[in-house]
Amino acid sequence: MLDFSLSPEQLDLQKRARTFSKEVVLPAAWHYNEKDELPLWVLKKANEAGIMNSDIPKEYGGAGYGLVEGAIVTEEIAAACPGLATSIFDNSLGFEPIVISDNEHLKKKYLPEIAKNGKRICFATSEPTMGSDVAGMQCRAEKKGDGYILNGTKFWITNSGVADYMTIFATVDPDKKHDGICAFIVEKEWDGVRVGRHIPKLGQRTSNTAGIHLENVRVPEENMLAGPGKGFVLAMKTFSRTRPIIGAFAVGAARSAMEYAIDYAKKRKTFGSRINTYQAIQFKLAEMYQRVETSRLLVLKGAWEADSGMDPTITASIGKFYATESAMEVLNDALQIFGGYGYTKMFPIEKLLRDTRLFTIYEGTSEIQRMIVAGWLLSAYTSVMPPLDEVPVMVGAEALFDQDGNPSDTPAWRCPLCGYVHYGEDHPDECPYCFIKGKGFKQVWPR
Ligand SMILES: Cc1cc2nc3c(=O)[nH]c(=O)nc-3n(C[C@H](O)[C@H](O)[C@H](O)COP(=O)(O)OP(=O)(O)OC[C@H]3O[C@@H](n4cnc5c(N)ncnc54)[C@H](O)[C@@H]3O)c2cc1C
Repeated sequence: MLDFSLSPEQLDLQKRARTFSKEVVLPAAWHYNEKDELPLWVLKKANEAGIMNSDIPKEYGGAGYGLVEGAIVTEEIAAACPGLATSIFDNSLGFEPIVISDNEHLKKKYLPEIAKNGKRICFATSEPTMGSDVAGMQCRAEKKGDGYILNGTKFWITNSGVADYMTIFATVDPDKKHDGICAFIVEKEWDGVRVGRHIPKLGQRTSNTAGIHLENVRVPEENMLAGPGKGFVLAMKTFSRTRPIIGAFAVGAARSAMEYAIDYAKKRKTFGSRINTYQAIQFKLAEMYQRVETSRLLVLKGAWEADSGMDPTITASIGKFYATESAMEVLNDALQIFGGYGYTKMFPIEKLLRDTRLFTIYEGTSEIQRMIVAGWLLSAYTSVMPPLDEVPVMVGAEALFDQDGNPSDTPAWRCPLCGYVHYGEDHPDECPYCFIKGKGFKQVWPR
C-alpha cells in the first residue's frame, strides 16, 4: 500500500524539531545574520537535542535516523534559518562519506567523537578554480612512506572555520581525472592545515564558509577513506544522499515564506480591502502551497529511495533542482505580496530570499542536476512506448478494424522520416511526401 503518512516516531521527531526551530533557531537567526557569524552554541544545543548528527548509526553512538527523518528535521530548521540549517546539516555531509564507506577503523575512530562529543567535520571537494567539475580537482595527494602528503587549496568549505575534522578529496594525478581522486580524513590541528578568512556572502551569513590551505600535510595511510578513483565514486554517492536534504532546506524556507505571506495578506489593506481578498494574491498563495507540497513529495521520495536501499541519484537530482528553483519562485512571490516592506530588512522575506538563493548552487548547481538527469534519460531510461517508427500513427488511415474491432489484414508501412503511412502488400517505391526510397519504410500493421 502506498502510504504518505508519517509514523508516530517521525511525528514526534518533527514536533521536537519544530520546538527547537522556534525556540532556539528563530530567535538567533537575524541577530547572527546581521553579525555575519555562526553561533556555535546553536550547534551544541542541536547536538544535545538530537537534531544534529542523529543520522550516525546507533553502533557508533548516533540515533541511526534515515534520510526521511533527516529531511523532516531539516525542513523544520530551515524554516527558521536556512543558514543555521546548513551549518547543522553540514556535519552530516562531512561524515556521510565515512558512514557509507566500508572503513571500519575510521568509523570507530571518528563517528563516536562526532555523535557523543559534538566534534565537527566539514566536506571538501571544491577548489578556487573548480566546483562543478569535481574530476578536475588539483589538490595533490602524493604517496610517501606509509602515508600521503597533501598539497593544495580547497575553497567554499562550509564550517571549515569551526571544524575539528575535514573530509578532503584530492588527486594522485590531475591528468587521471576521476580515476585519480582519493578521500582522506584530516584533522584540523595537523601540521600544514590552515583555514582562510570567513568569506562574506549574499546570504546564509549564519553559516561559516572559508578556504582550506594544505601544505605538506602528512596523512597516515589509515586515514585514507577511499583510494584513487574510489574517492570520486564516494563523493558522488554522498551527493546522491545529501541532495534530498538540500531540497528539504528549500521546502522549509519556502514554507515559511508562504506562511508569512498569508499572514501579511490577511492584515494589509489597499483600496479599502484586505489584499487576501484579491484573486491575484490568492493565486500566488495557491501556487506557493502547490510548490511547497510538490517539492516535499519529491524530496521525501528521494530520501525514501535511499533509506530503502535503492539508488536515489535521479530522484535526488530532480528533487534538488525542482525544490530549490520552486523555493526561489515562492520567495519572489512572497516578497511581491509584502510590497515595499518585503524589500526591507525589517521583515523576514529579504533574508529568506538571500538564504534560499544558495540552494541552486551548492552540492551541484541546477545545471549539473539537469546534466545528470538528461544523461540518464538518454542512456538508461527504459521507455514504455515502442520506438517512434513503430508507433501506429495512422494519418488518413483506411479501415484498419471492422465494426467488431477485428484488425484488417492490409499491411501498413510507415515512412521513417516524415511519418507518412502507405497501405498495400509491399512498401511504396518512394515516399510521396519526402521522396526517400521505399525500402526504408517499416511495416507497422498488422502488429
Ligand atoms: C556558500 C557556499 C558553501 C559551499 N560549501 C561547500 C562545501 O562545504 N564543500 C564543497 O566542496 N563545496 C562547497 N561549495 C562549493 C559549491 O559546491 C560550488 O560553488 C558549486 O559546485 C559550483 O561550483 P563553482 O562555484 O566553481 O562554479 P563553476 O563550476 O565554475 O560553474 C559556474 C557556472 O557554470 C555552470 N556550469 C558549469 N559547468 C557546466 C556545464 N558543463 N554545462 C552547463 N553549465 C555549466 C554552473 O552551473 C554555474 O552556473 C559551497 C559554495 C558556496 C557558495
